[in-house]
Amino acid sequence: MELLQLYSEMGISRQVLEYGQNIEKELRERFEAIDETAEYNQMKVIRAMQKARVSDIHFAATTGYGYNDLGRDVLEEVYAHTFHGEDALVRPQLISGTHALHVALSGNLRPGDELLSPVGKPYDTLEEVIGIRDSVGSLKEYGVIYRQVDLLEDGSFDYDGIRKAINDRTRLVTIQRSKGYATRPTLSVDKIGRLISFIKDIRPDIICMVDNCYGEFVERAEPTDVGADMIVGSLIKNPGGGLAPIGGYIVGKKECIDRASYRLSAPGLGKEVGASLGMNQSFFQGLFLSPTVVAGALKGAIFAANVYERLGFLVVPDSIQSRHDIIQAVTFGTPEGVIAFCQGIQAAAPVDSFVTPEPWDMPGYDAPVIMAAGAFVQGSSIELSADAPIKPPYAVYFQGGLTWYHAKLGILKSLQNLLDRGIVRGLA
Ligand SMILES: *Cc1c(COP(=O)(O)O)cnc(C)c1O
Repeated sequence: MELLQLYSEMGISRQVLEYGQNIEKELRERFEAIDETAEYNQMKVIRAMQKARVSDIHFAATTGYGYNDLGRDVLEEVYAHTFHGEDALVRPQLISGTHALHVALSGNLRPGDELLSPVGKPYDTLEEVIGIRDSVGSLKEYGVIYRQVDLLEDGSFDYDGIRKAINDRTRLVTIQRSKGYATRPTLSVDKIGRLISFIKDIRPDIICMVDNCYGEFVERAEPTDVGADMIVGSLIKNPGGGLAPIGGYIVGKKECIDRASYRLSAPGLGKEVGASLGMNQSFFQGLFLSPTVVAGALKGAIFAANVYERLGFLVVPDSIQSRHDIIQAVTFGTPEGVIAFCQGIQAAAPVDSFVTPEPWDMPGYDAPVIMAAGAFVQGSSIELSADAPIKPPYAVYFQGGLTWYHAKLGILKSLQNLLDRGIVRGLA
């Protein structure tokens, strides 16, 4: 069977396929650059695995307390080598990115300490962790004071404001790399490095933590290469490579990791306990695959930016901007556009392609939300996924794709939906 016919049986017309193929041709050079980054990062991971002498004995499961879990210890060594940190905490007991960030923060902050975000409001779920929105068990309840300095209008750092906000009690600075679902730009590793140098020049003992979610392996360097004391992320995003069924990581200075470990398990226990329950192989293998998986997701994001910008929609980042995370936003301006897009992403999934997502009133949101995800792992956003609140400006955020070909199919399918429903009138 011809590829054209196969696509046609998947619901993609010749017109949509050719439109996509023409754009893909124009992106050849950018895709090559992405592949070169993936090759570099692949070498980094393999070298780390060789240095730590990974062996199949490390894939064995432990149970109970998990004393002497060799696989767990070597996995953490591999993460430390890969991200150039002194030590790491990589655990299935870290149940999400939010949890890993909570453990890193609460392990390293004490009553009376100040926490500073010099990059504006952090990710939604951290508002409750910190106590920006009142919440039971927040850092605020434990006497940690929060300060925030917003980015300037043009997205740059407010260095004067940051200098003024730092005082004797400032203990930890939290820097979010990805824009998440905000409208500010994502920070490059280079920019993060400049911010950290500025802070360390004022007070070298301030702990600089980076929320690294969605950023791993997008560039050759990571924030730990430019002075971050801790980086934190989720294994059901980039570094799990789609294989990790759960988990989070913290990599950085040994004393920071130690303090976090006493919060994760218990004072006195730290890193010595925590059974890996048979997860180790998927953690190792997922990290091994992650550089190429991230490359596929990046190609999908850039492809979508080009597909939709050409049709007149606002896309962030735009079709030519450099990339520092895997998230793509497309503003459709109407509920129908957002819904058609998300239903196209769902229809292209390997899992649950036959269900049709609809907007619903999700707890905690002020507008109905539509979510598309046909994922092997629940909530995994390294897998192709999209979501959007049904409110102006009617923008959809999407990310992931374990392979470039799947991301491409999802985007073509979304475009086909928009055309079939008359939301897009014609292809240029
Ligand atoms: C995903 C994410 C988190 C944590 O989210 P979880 O859903 O708890 O894993 C934190 N910060 C940013 C920027 C994120 O993208």
